[in-house]
Amino acid sequence: MRSRFPLAFATLVALILGFAAPAAAQSPAAAAAAAGDPPSEEPEEEGDEDAAPVDTSGLKKVVKPTTNVKPKSEQKKDAKKQQKAVSQKIKGDKRCEFRMPLYEHEVVDGDMLSSIAARYGVRVKDVLKLNPGVKANALKIGKKIKVCPEIAPRLREEFTYTVKKGDSLSEIGEKYGMTRREVIKQQKWSLREKLEKDPGSLREGQELTLIVDRGVLPEFAPRNEDKGTLKIGVQLEPGKGYFIKRPHLAYGTAVCVRAIKSAISGYRQKAKGGPQVHVGDISARGGGPLKGHKSHQKGIDVDIGLVLRGDDADETRFRTGNEGNLDVPRTWALIKAFVDSPDVRAVFLDYRLQKLLYEHARKQKVSEAKLDELFQYPRGKGRAFGIIRHWKGHKDHFHVRFRK
Ligand SMILES: [Zn+2]
Repeated sequence: MRSRFPLAFATLVALILGFAAPAAAQSPAAAAAAAGDPPSEEPEEEGDEDAAPVDTSGLKKVVKPTTNVKPKSEQKKDAKKQQKAVSQKIKGDKRCEFRMPLYEHEVVDGDMLSSIAARYGVRVKDVLKLNPGVKANALKIGKKIKVCPEIAPRLREEFTYTVKKGDSLSEIGEKYGMTRREVIKQQKWSLREKLEKDPGSLREGQELTLIVDRGVLPEFAPRNEDKGTLKIGVQLEPGKGYFIKRPHLAYGTAVCVRAIKSAISGYRQKAKGGPQVHVGDISARGGGPLKGHKSHQKGIDVDIGLVLRGDDADETRFRTGNEGNLDVPRTWALIKAFVDSPDVRAVFLDYRLQKLLYEHARKQKVSEAKLDELFQYPRGKGRAFGIIRHWKGHKDHFHVRFRK
C-alpha cells in the first residue's frame, strides 16, 4: 500500500505534464515524424526516420493562426472539404500529371518564389509554368500560387518564441526549418530593422514571432509509392565514364535510364577527368522487392556513389564521404547534373554532406535563391524542403528519384 502511492503519484504527474505540454511545443521535425513523411521520401536502405530531436524549450504558447495564413471560417470549410476528400478516392489533378491534387499556396510575409517552390519540393520553373504572369520579385501577400506538391502541404501557424540564453537566429531558424533571413523577415517592423542591421543584437528574453509548419493537410496525406513493379524495364548498358556495380539490378524505366545516361555525360563534360561514376542499384528485371532496399521496385530510383579522392576514388564499394576524402567540386557537379534533369524529383543525401556542397556552391556564386530552391540545408534535417534532402544512410552515396 505504501509503495503504491508514490508510483500512482508519479504517473499522475507524468500525465499532467504530458497533457500540459502545449501542442506548439513540437518541432516541425517531430510534427513531421508524427504525421509521417511521404513514403516516397523514405528509401529503405536508409532505415527509419532520423529527424532532429524534439525541442520543447523556449516556446511560450500558441497564438491564433495568422489571418493571412488561414481565417478560422475558412479553416473549418477546409476541414470539411478535407474530410470529404479523404472519404472519396483522391484524384490527381490533370495539371499535376494526375499524380497529386493541385494546391494553392497563399503568400505570406517573407515568402520568396524560390522558398515557395522548395517548400513543395519543386522547381521555380514548375511554379512559373503553373502561374503565368507571376513575377519572382513582386509577390503580393495573400496571392494564391498554384503548385503540384512533391512535399505535402502543411498548415502554418504563428507563435511567440522567447529567446533563450545563447540562442542565435540561425539556430532558432534551424529548429523550426527556417533560414536566419526568414526568421528576421517574420518580425515586426522595429525588431526586423534592428535584426537586419545587427543579427547579433538578439537578447535573452526577447520575443520573436515565428510562422511554423504544423500537420500535413489530409488530402495530401502521404501515399506509399515505394512498392510496385517495373512492367517495361530497360537495362542500363555499360558506357563511357561509368561503372555499374550490379548490372542485373540496373533495370529502370526508359525515362530513368535515359536521364541517368544524360546526367553522367553532362557531368563528364564538366568534370574534366576524375574517377568513373559509380552506378549502384536501380531495380531488378521486372521490379518488385529488392533485398536491402524498400524502394528501388519500380525502376525510378538509382543509387550513385560520391566522387572521392585519393585511395577511395576507385574503390568499387560505396565509401562514406567526409571532408577529407570527398571531391566536393566533382560531387557537386555530378549531383547538379541530376538535379538539372526535368525528370528528377528528388536527390537524397546526408545533411552533413549537403553542408559541404552547399558551402562550395555558395563560393561558386550560385545565387541565394537557387541554393534555397535546391537544398534542404540549412533548415535542419527534420524539415522536408528543396530538391536535395536528407535521408539517413546516405553518407556513402546519393539516391535519385525520377518522375516516372
Ligand atoms: Zn537508394
